[in-house]
Amino acid sequence: MENNSDKKFQQTLVIVKPDGLKKSLTGNILTRLSEAKLRIVAAKVVQVSRELACKHYEHLKDKPFFDEVVKYIRGTLHGEEYHRVLAIIYEGADAIKKVREIAGVTNPEEADPTTIRGQYGRITTKGMYENVIHCSASDEEAENEIKLWFEPDDIVEEIYPVETIDTLVKKRVWKNVNRTK
Ligand code: ADP
Repeated sequence: MENNSDKKFQQTLVIVKPDGLKKSLTGNILTRLSEAKLRIVAAKVVQVSRELACKHYEHLKDKPFFDEVVKYIRGTLHGEEYHRVLAIIYEGADAIKKVREIAGVTNPEEADPTTIRGQYGRITTKGMYENVIHCSASDEEAENEIKLWFEPDDIVEEIYPVETIDTLVKKRVWKNVNRTK
């Protein structure tokens, strides 16, 4: 049995990017990630707004490829039916490092060929690293990203402190469903 006592219990955000969905790699990616023996505590399919993409990649805003990477995560480069990503929160001992090891380094040509990015990524003719998945790189990044992509009620555990506020936000509900208070 694995000794987890010297390991850090962490959450990490994984995003199967539009190229991963378009290449029908979701199953392969989840199978590879299951090697890390982590638990999934939330998952959802997201249509990424420009605002969400820009916030997610804020650390790259001065890079020459910023506009392209925003288009990439929004699916704009992959056709209308791929304007979406799959976002997953994994949790467990050393989750960030374990997932990054299985994912491989950012540049798919430099990534170990047995990693997800090494196996399935490519560099486009425009020079974009289409590397199939995103995964958080540090504790701070994981917390910021998880709070950006998920609401507390999307997650089956309380991983960060929450508070309850009164709001008057309108929400869509299923039509013709009996609602008893
Ligand atoms: P990571 O996704 O490994 O955490 P970054 O946050 O630095 O790496 O970059 C975000 C994404 O931007 C990368 O996953 C990749 O798709 C793209 N990217 C990063 N660096 C480059 C680059 N030099 N040229 C083209 N695309 C890049």
